[in-house]
Amino acid sequence: MNNFRLLKKFCCLVLLFIMFVACFQGLVACGKDDYIKKTAKKLSTYNIEAGYDDVTKIVSAVLTCEYKNDNEAVLEQLKFHLYPNAYRENAKNKLVSSNLITYAYKNGYSYGHIEVKSVKVNGDAVAYEISGTDNDILIAPLSTQLYPDEKVSVEIEFETKLANIWHRLGYGDNTVNLNNWYPILCYYDKTEGWLTDPYYSVGDPFVSGIANYNVNLSVNSNLIVACGADLTDKQVNESTTRYCFSAVAVRDFSIIMSSAFLTDTVKGGNTTITYYYFNDQNHLNTLNIALDALNYFNNSFGTYPYDTLSVVQSDFYQGGMEYPRLVMVSAGQQESSYKKATVHEIAHQWWYALVGNDQVRNAWMDEGLTEFSTMLFFENHDYGIDAVNDIKTAKTSLNNFLDITRNYYKNIDTSINRSVNSYRNETEYAYMCYVKAMIMFDDIRVIMGNVKFVKALKDYFNNNKLCLAVPANLIQSFSKAYGSNMESLFDTYLTGKEKTI
Ligand SMILES: [Zn+2]
Repeated sequence: MNNFRLLKKFCCLVLLFIMFVACFQGLVACGKDDYIKKTAKKLSTYNIEAGYDDVTKIVSAVLTCEYKNDNEAVLEQLKFHLYPNAYRENAKNKLVSSNLITYAYKNGYSYGHIEVKSVKVNGDAVAYEISGTDNDILIAPLSTQLYPDEKVSVEIEFETKLANIWHRLGYGDNTVNLNNWYPILCYYDKTEGWLTDPYYSVGDPFVSGIANYNVNLSVNSNLIVACGADLTDKQVNESTTRYCFSAVAVRDFSIIMSSAFLTDTVKGGNTTITYYYFNDQNHLNTLNIALDALNYFNNSFGTYPYDTLSVVQSDFYQGGMEYPRLVMVSAGQQESSYKKATVHEIAHQWWYALVGNDQVRNAWMDEGLTEFSTMLFFENHDYGIDAVNDIKTAKTSLNNFLDITRNYYKNIDTSINRSVNSYRNETEYAYMCYVKAMIMFDDIRVIMGNVKFVKALKDYFNNNKLCLAVPANLIQSFSKAYGSNMESLFDTYLTGKEKTI
């Protein structure tokens, strides 16, 4: 063997090593969102062709739902929520709690609705039914029974009229908010069947499964469009622009538009964050908070698998609102509230968008955990928010609320494992599902210690992403990380028997 041969052999080994490293890195890179792509193949798909008229404030659209029966049940009909009908005049379910009316209807009362024009099943027109307490459920009869894993195509032509309201759906002075704007499938529960909860004024009264979306939207070209999806194409035709969006494995589809939007963009991990704003002197600081939050939650809970996240300053009557890959942050808040709302809504990307839950019956699961995740973030980042003191203040404030309420009502239900419509009012809901649930997670962290607590959250995320988790899933992850059954501890808080508060 001579030196040349040795050198040749060495070069071959180096080359093999480089190839191995490249392959390994490739595998890791492919693996990052493999579960999204894998899951997407099994899902139902919504294809929507829509146009928005900024003068009449009407969205005209044709939606085709390529539905796959992923239940064990045989189905004879599909049910869809018609959430825009909650915005009608004289709707039976209150859209806005009494104490928030002036924040929502800033320009006086205004109403919207959705009109279904036709429904076709596998290409044939069918006699559909509109039901629900507020005409908020669409029932599409199927011509033949749909067995598990079988598919059916349902086409719905509809028009959604927006109200002038600072709400999830509606237009304000600065933004047009297109949320819960199209017929979306009701969630099919194994034991309950279709969940047809109406639009409650309290909480985020939505339960939805994961689906794929292809949405084409034509709008006046002066509008800048923020969306929880990838922009796949953009065609400018004289005064209108047609945007083509695509999102796989998401729980809902959100769009916010404004002619006044300015944008800043930054990349964190595998995700590009775009901040859309119309009035933020500290916009770079807001973008930085969003970036830090994304990185922190990526490391703490698990990697955010989507390519984009839109953070959108919006005309909205509360602090903010979460949708998959898009969060609304309300304009006009105090600086500290704005920072907290930004982080809170981003935390919801993990506890709602990725790990879903029944937000009507188990609101504490996303709101409590999101509120505590927000505190965790500010404990570890210096943005002028004293998280330790905020938790102390929250305990005092909760106790004051309970004292006052007990004096007034003589009794108070401090359980948090109940439906959003069972709370007496918005304040009680906020104290139970946000404040008390956050305190519960803080108490549990003290018992478990930081390391085990974060381990529990990672496990919970990993085992329940893209699913609809139930309390048992969460308790199981905490028990596993703690090394002992934590069910009775959780139970005391959930059922209102705790003595620690
Ligand atoms: Zn929230």
